[in-house]
Amino acid sequence: MYTLTDVTKTYDGRHQVTALDRVSVTIPDGQMVAIEGPTGGGKSTLLQMLGALDVPSSGTVTLDDIELSGARESQLQQVRAERVGIVFQNFNLIPTLSALENVQMALVPLGVSAHDSKQRSRAALEQVSMGDRADHLPSELSGGQQQRVAIARALVKSPRVLLADEPTGNLDGPMRDEVLQLLHEAWRAQSLTVIMVTHDSRVAASAQRRLRIAHGHLTKLSGGPRKGGRKNGLLDRPDSDDPRSGQMGPGATDHGPLNGQSGQRQPSGARDVASPEADD
Ligand code: ADP
Ligand code: MG
Repeated sequence: MYTLTDVTKTYDGRHQVTALDRVSVTIPDGQMVAIEGPTGGGKSTLLQMLGALDVPSSGTVTLDDIELSGARESQLQQVRAERVGIVFQNFNLIPTLSALENVQMALVPLGVSAHDSKQRSRAALEQVSMGDRADHLPSELSGGQQQRVAIARALVKSPRVLLADEPTGNLDGPMRDEVLQLLHEAWRAQSLTVIMVTHDSRVAASAQRRLRIAHGHLTKLSGGPRKGGRKNGLLDRPDSDDPRSGQMGPGATDHGPLNGQSGQRQPSGARDVASPEADD
């Protein structure tokens, strides 16, 4: 579970920028959250705090039992290596490494043996239907395929949290839907917390909870900590719910399933935790 309390981030350059302004929010384990908002609004900065890539100027960020905002760099490294997988808009694959080697990179900090690393990485590529492209270089893959590899790299460590910064931003049409579907499959299969930054209304509509950040202020659009684990928001229904209508609250959405599967997810105890919403 993430708990952010009064998180402020200022960048001091020639012009001081307040990228996050007293952001407070709780994200229970297993939730799928979309964060929307205009360019420059603070989305990537927020993901960096969640991913232990940076620390706030003031306020606290805790993930489970660890206060990231006060942690030593070695602790932050460990959190990044073990607990958090990150997917970026531009895939961020190493161009000179094969798909398999790119995935294996995520296991290097964990000290996994060469044999296990190969085995786990192959399995992760299979999971995203890229098993037959393990030896390909990124340049030999389409954008959608590169993003699949990046998702495999994020998942191979079996993280607790998957963060995605505009995961479909460089994709169009069917590739976009495929990547979104993969994120949902991983969420369902691995009991992940998934937090996605997006401009894409379909991606946003597929989340359980929608937050918006603009000028560093976080506000709630819909959803939130809920009782029970009814999964919502899937691909085959257009973005017909106006979240601002208030109809898309917890349990209110009942979007059709991704692949005709039930879309049911076991309720987890953690979802029952009542927590404050983002401050409006
Ligand atoms: P978003 O991802 O929503 O587009 P960002 O979190 O990247 O927004 O940026 C929020 C604000 O912080 C913007 O005004 C941006 O220019 C500024 N910013 C982001 N990173 C830095 C940095 N490393 N140094 C200075 N300013 C930054
Ligand atoms: Mg950004």
